[in-house]
Amino acid sequence: MTARVAEILIPLALDQTYSYAVPDDLRLEEGDLVAVPLGPRERYGVVWSVRPGAGDNFKKVAGKFDVPPMPAALRRLVDWLAWYTLAPKGSALGLALKVPVETPETIRVGVRLAGPPPKRITPARARVLEAAAGGLVHVKRHLAEAAGVGVGVIDGLVDEGTLKTVALKAEPVAERPDPDFVRPDLSDRQRAAAEVLAAAVATATSQDPVTTGSRHPVIVVDGVTGSGKTEVYFEAIAAALKLGRQALILAPEIALTSAFLDRFAGRFGTRPAAWHSGVSGRRRERVLAGVASGEVSVVAGARSALFLPFKDLGLIVVDEEHEGAYKQEDGVCYHTRDMAIVRGRFENAPVVLASATPSIETRVNVQRGRFSRVALPERFGGRTLPDIKAVDLRRDPPERGTWLSPRLVEEVRRTTDAGEQALLFLNRRGYAPLTLCRACGHRFNCPNCSAWLVEHRFRRALVCHHCGHAERVPETCPACGGAETVVPCGPGVERIAEEVARLFPEKRRIVLSSDFPGGTERLRKELAAIAEGEADIVVGTQLVAKGHNFPNMTLVGVLDADIGLTSGDPRAAERTFQLLQQVTGRAGRGSKPGRALVQTYQPDHPVLAALVSGEAERFYREETAAREAAGMPPFGRLAALIVSGADRTEAEAFGRNLARVAEPPAGVMVLGPAEAPLALIRGRYRFRLLVKAMRETNLQEYLRQWLIRAGKPRGSVRVAVDVDPMSFL
Ligand code: ADP
Ligand code: ZN
Repeated sequence: MTARVAEILIPLALDQTYSYAVPDDLRLEEGDLVAVPLGPRERYGVVWSVRPGAGDNFKKVAGKFDVPPMPAALRRLVDWLAWYTLAPKGSALGLALKVPVETPETIRVGVRLAGPPPKRITPARARVLEAAAGGLVHVKRHLAEAAGVGVGVIDGLVDEGTLKTVALKAEPVAERPDPDFVRPDLSDRQRAAAEVLAAAVATATSQDPVTTGSRHPVIVVDGVTGSGKTEVYFEAIAAALKLGRQALILAPEIALTSAFLDRFAGRFGTRPAAWHSGVSGRRRERVLAGVASGEVSVVAGARSALFLPFKDLGLIVVDEEHEGAYKQEDGVCYHTRDMAIVRGRFENAPVVLASATPSIETRVNVQRGRFSRVALPERFGGRTLPDIKAVDLRRDPPERGTWLSPRLVEEVRRTTDAGEQALLFLNRRGYAPLTLCRACGHRFNCPNCSAWLVEHRFRRALVCHHCGHAERVPETCPACGGAETVVPCGPGVERIAEEVARLFPEKRRIVLSSDFPGGTERLRKELAAIAEGEADIVVGTQLVAKGHNFPNMTLVGVLDADIGLTSGDPRAAERTFQLLQQVTGRAGRGSKPGRALVQTYQPDHPVLAALVSGEAERFYREETAAREAAGMPPFGRLAALIVSGADRTEAEAFGRNLARVAEPPAGVMVLGPAEAPLALIRGRYRFRLLVKAMRETNLQEYLRQWLIRAGKPRGSVRVAVDVDPMSFL
């Protein structure tokens, strides 16, 4: 046999593959998972390529794992991701390999109490007998865990005949969804849209874009809230299932509720495999294996599901494609939607982008003819969109020290008295965003970050939202010693909840905020409770805005529509508009019509004017024109370099050095370094540089050359690259 050398990519922050000699008796192919020595340790990695060659100078591949090789399309995605984001290739691989490797569980062995008690009883054995009492079949490992003993103790009892083994069939990780389980009665428009999607799924299987040169289909489902977008993309999933291919639904983490999974089950007879932070280790591994073998045919997952090793992916749906949470901001900075499109191309799988408020990037891609679009301009079943009115806080102010205007209070009362639900929305966690001393003006800042501490009354603490630093609310001012002079300023959801409790003590209330203990699991339960009518008034942050269906909710009150408008972010207006449209869209999704009241100090602002008048198209047209005039994305390209370090001077000096060696070619502009708006996070000082380039620029190539010229930063200084940044803090 000819000697071979393998190039192995290791999931560490390394930008290259390493060469290893392949032992003669080891068959290796691309994508195989292997163990290799690296420094003093053994690491695992993926075979990126194999070539003939004498590997005398190289260390040897130590062994190969008995798992399916990483599919070619996924390896291609890793390469592409690293190229596009400038992240080290190994870090990109880390996203696709983050599941701990364990020997796969092949046959599970069950045991049950069957024979005579053992001759010798130890405390461990006694615990096993107790745990196994009743004669039920237990998975061996579970019984050992329940009794707090090693598996050896169980084996000993099997040898003595006290326990009998039973072979267990592995339970299927997911039932096969049935595309014809309950076929919905679609409206004409819905059917027309569904047919476009299904046709794209069918065509994709018969045409390889690489050989036929056909275009990879990306289809935008642009439909108002409640128009039946979900219903429509389910038909595309049915089409993929009929062709025996797999489908992936990407959704914001918090939208993956049991209501959503049950809705899928209502259509397909069984739930999809879920993939989000609440899915535990063992279950994750089984989903992973099922996705690779093809046993799992539909996954509904948060953004990391994009990197699952599908055997034959035939469709990707990105639900709520405009959602900001799709952008990963630390480590490898990627946008899930954009990478989903890349993966779809590599898999020859159409990509469906669903949203009631498609992003400007997506709209422009439709205009340029790169994406196609199907529209659902009406709510299903003749339901009307909510009637949205602005409450001008200058004319209709709340009482001093309160936040609900009299008009809003009255509407909440009317709604809840009628047995319907009201949602009060404020996009601010905690009790108060700022705490200060009335006597001396001292403000409570985070010691590690340049940020105010936010009072969280439930936790009785002042908390930093950037680093998690928490301290007790002091009784006296640490600066002037004043007693009872420390006061909260401004509202967070907790403070609104307090006001609501005072105003409506007899109503059932729920407060939802992502920072409450219990995490997303608890939130999912509470969202289900709201949908079932177990609350009259809901107070919540933006997580209630996302795609939930509350049939009895007829009033939405937005407490402060102006919050997002003042930031320096180029997408501030777009984001605020989307968020307000989404949250007001929670009203009137059931049989009764909905209303929304939006409190603002600037009712004439284009965002609010468009929201109230319903002229979304006009808003987007003007916003798009403004972006084009300014050369902002998607008409120009942006990249941010964030230099940070424990030492302010060092960080700033490296930022300056970067600017000095920037040498931007024509069409590229480098701005900065400027101290970041969040100048200090977790004790690291931060400076930002912004690259603004014309759309045709090979931005990646420029950035790469530039970073090489700048050399490696020294000491604690780090440079993070964010291509297509969404955050400018
Ligand atoms: P969207 O995703 O656009 O917000 P949904 O797909 O959630 O809208 O649909 C809104 C509501 O209308 C849901 O309760 C859904 O079950 C219902 N619905 C939509 N289309 C149909 C249909 N063709 N038949 C029955 N119910 C439908
Ligand atoms: Zn902090």
